[in-house]
Amino acid sequence: MKTYTSPQTALGLSVICNLIGHKFRITKKITNHFHEYQCRCCGKQMTEDIYGRLIELTAERKEINSTLHFIFNKKQLQIE
Ligand SMILES: [Zn+2]
Repeated sequence: MKTYTSPQTALGLSVICNLIGHKFRITKKITNHFHEYQCRCCGKQMTEDIYGRLIELTAERKEINSTLHFIFNKKQLQIE
C-alpha cells in the first residue's frame, strides 16, 4: 500500500487559495512590464506572459526571467 505524505498545512492553505484566490505580492521586478509574484498563503510562484497574463513560474521561466532582467538592467545602464 502506498501512502502519500504531503504537508497538511500547505494543502490546507492551497484549499483556501482555491476558494478565495491567491494573494500575490511582487517578489521580483524583471522589467517595467514583467514581474515575479508569490502567494502569501501557499507560496505559489507566478510570472507574466507576453500578454500580461499570470502564468506559473517554472524553473525554465525563472531562467528566462533572470536573462531578461540582466538584459533590461544592461539597457538601463546604457541609457543613463
Ligand atoms: Zn495561494
